[in-house]
Amino acid sequence: MVLPCYNEEAALEYSIKSLNEVLAALAGDRIIDAAYKLVCVDDGSFDGTWPMICNLARNYQGRLSGIKLSRNVGHQNAILAGLEHVRQENLCEAVITMDADLQDDVAAIKEMVEKYRLENCDIVLGVRRSRKSDSLLKRYTAQMFYSLMKNTHTPVVPDHAEYRLMSRRAVDCLLQYGERNVFLRGIITSMGFKTGMVYYDRRPRQFGRSKYPLARMLNFAVEGITSFSIRPIRSIFLIGVVSLVLTLSVGIYVLAAILLGRTYPGWASLMLSLWFLGSLILIALGIIGEYIGKIYLEVKQRPRYFVESTTWGEEEKR
Ligand code: UDP
Ligand code: MG
Repeated sequence: MVLPCYNEEAALEYSIKSLNEVLAALAGDRIIDAAYKLVCVDDGSFDGTWPMICNLARNYQGRLSGIKLSRNVGHQNAILAGLEHVRQENLCEAVITMDADLQDDVAAIKEMVEKYRLENCDIVLGVRRSRKSDSLLKRYTAQMFYSLMKNTHTPVVPDHAEYRLMSRRAVDCLLQYGERNVFLRGIITSMGFKTGMVYYDRRPRQFGRSKYPLARMLNFAVEGITSFSIRPIRSIFLIGVVSLVLTLSVGIYVLAAILLGRTYPGWASLMLSLWFLGSLILIALGIIGEYIGKIYLEVKQRPRYFVESTTWGEEEKR
C-alpha cells in the first residue's frame, strides 16, 4: 500500500496500526500474501511526520518503509513517488493507494483485492457511496467539480478520489505518462483495462486537519480540466462565432436606428466595428488556441496505447 503523508503526525500512528491489523487479517485468511508492505511517502511535512515514519519503520520491521521527499510536491506527485518506488523495488503484484488519514473505509481493501484476483480487474476504484460525511461547502463544490468535468469531457469517475488498487502492469502504464501536471484520476480513467468499482462510506477526518482548503481545491479542479481538455480553448472560438452572428442583428438594429433618424454622427460605424472586430479577434484567438491546444497535447508525449492481452503468453498477463 502507498500512503501519501503531509503533516499527518496526528493521524499516522493510528492509521498504520489499523491498516496493519486489517492487512494481517487478510493475510491470515490468505486473501493477500503474508509479505504485504506499507510505503509511507512524506510529502515535505514540517511537523513530526518523518520522525514518526522512521519510528514506525523500526516498529514494523520489514513491513513498513518510508520515503521523504525534499519538499512539498502535492498529493498527486507524492502518490506517484510511492508508486515509482514500489515499481523500482519490484515490491508487489498489486498496489493500493490510500490517504493516510484513513477516512476511506479499510473494509473496501478486501473487496478490491477480490475484484483483482477473481474478476481479473487491473484497476479497482474506490467510489464513495454518499457525501453525507462532507461539509455543505465540500458537497456543493464537489458537485460543481464533477459537472464541470463532465461538461469539459475530462475523464473522471464521480466520487472516486485516490483510493484504488492497481495491478503491476497498470502501474507500469501509469508511469509511462511523462507529464508534469499530474491529474491521476483522469489518467487512470483514460488508461483503459478492466476496471472494477467498490463502493464504500467515507468517514469524517478523525485526527489532524484537511490539507485541501478551498483555494487548493479550486486549483486542483483547474489542473484537472486543463490537463485533459482543450474544450475551454474551443469555447473561445465558439464565442467568437456567436458574437459574429450577433453582429448581424446589431447591424440590423443600427440600420433601423439610421432609418428612424435616431443616431448621432459616427455612432453607427463605431458600434458596428466594435462588434465586428471583437468577433474577429475572438475567432482569431480561437484558431490560435486550437494550435496551442494541439501543441499542448503533443508535448505531453502520452503513450499512444497499451496492450491488454495477446493470443500468446496469457500467463504473463500481469
Ligand atoms: N497530502 C499530501 N500532500 C499534500 C496534501 C495532502 O501528500 O500537499 C496527503 C495527505 O497527507 C492525505 C491525503 O493527501 O494523506 C489527502 O489529504 P486530505 O485528507 O487533507 O484531503 P481531504 O480528505 O480533506 O480531501
Ligand atoms: Mg482526508
